[in-house]
Amino acid sequence: MVQVTYSIVSPVYNESENLPELYRQLTEVMERLGEPYEIILVDDGSRDASARIIRAYNQNDDRVKLVKLSRNFGHQLALTAGLSVATGRAVISMDSDLQDSPYAIPLFIEQWKRGYDVVYAIRRTRKESLIKQFAYKLFYRMLKMLSDFDIPIDSGDFSLMDAKVAALLNSLPEKSRYIRGLRAWVGFNQIGVPLDRDARYSGEAKYTFGKLMNLALSGLISFSVVPLRVATGIGTFVSVCSLVSILLVLYLKIFTHLSLPGFAATASILLFLGGVQLLTVGILGEYIGRIFEEVKQRPLFIISETQGLEGASFGVAPVNSRRTSQLSSEAATSTIPAERR
Ligand code: UDP
Ligand code: MG
Repeated sequence: MVQVTYSIVSPVYNESENLPELYRQLTEVMERLGEPYEIILVDDGSRDASARIIRAYNQNDDRVKLVKLSRNFGHQLALTAGLSVATGRAVISMDSDLQDSPYAIPLFIEQWKRGYDVVYAIRRTRKESLIKQFAYKLFYRMLKMLSDFDIPIDSGDFSLMDAKVAALLNSLPEKSRYIRGLRAWVGFNQIGVPLDRDARYSGEAKYTFGKLMNLALSGLISFSVVPLRVATGIGTFVSVCSLVSILLVLYLKIFTHLSLPGFAATASILLFLGGVQLLTVGILGEYIGRIFEEVKQRPLFIISETQGLEGASFGVAPVNSRRTSQLSSEAATSTIPAERR
């Protein structure tokens, strides 16, 4: 098999209307580059014709490969599945709804050839509802404030990674995956390229509100323990306040004839305390839930079918595959070349 220079990995969930245009644009861009490439489309349990369309592409063009997951595992895990089978010297991850424009890929490659190991898109503008844009802006700033290392603001999964970075990501076993965070955590030479984020070519966003919240929480919780400290902080603050108020009540009782009248005050204090307790227990719960997910040691995803790939046609997450261990030992020892060719 030829060693491909570029692997494009794209998760697909009910994107049958976008696939033809994605395939057309990708082929146009990649053929112009004149180096061997593969397009790995990961079908994340689509219920429409997506898998059938990808299979048909593979029949006519063996550069297109299908990885089909046994059910919907979610965007981050579908992307992980794709990364685990990619064999290129550089791996490009992008959405399949054309919000990440294939025409930006040559810009990424240019930086990679200059010696950068990770080139990621920074979303200069977005074509989404104002509320969604605001929520994204707020979230990325909060994450930056809370995390212990630098996660670039407004950067998503649209990026190019050198094979060694992709291999290192594959070797990280954690289940609650926030790939753009892990990618930053890995280090090496990283650079952002400002791009405008296009609107979806066709169809509706597949990230439901629930999925998006889950991703946001994974980001915050996997990369920060600050929420736990916030819980401690609120607890301390409330304890101090109640101590002061107890002393005040005692003082009034013993040294004056005043007494505080009461049901409303008592009830609101109780409610406040109850709220604070539930909030802190909730924060703890988020962490414990994620610990629970990790200790179960289930595979990250299950592949039910592949087309155009060597080896088993179904199986469990091939994280820590032969390529991973081989490349990560290489990554650990190699020095970074100034020029790639
Ligand atoms: N996606 C996926 N599994 C899911 C949800 C989404 O593979 O459970 C894919 C989807 O097909 C698209 C990408 O992830 O290629 C981004 O999803 P979407 O466009 O819905 O998210 P948004 O761009 O609104 O963040
Ligand atoms: Mg999208």
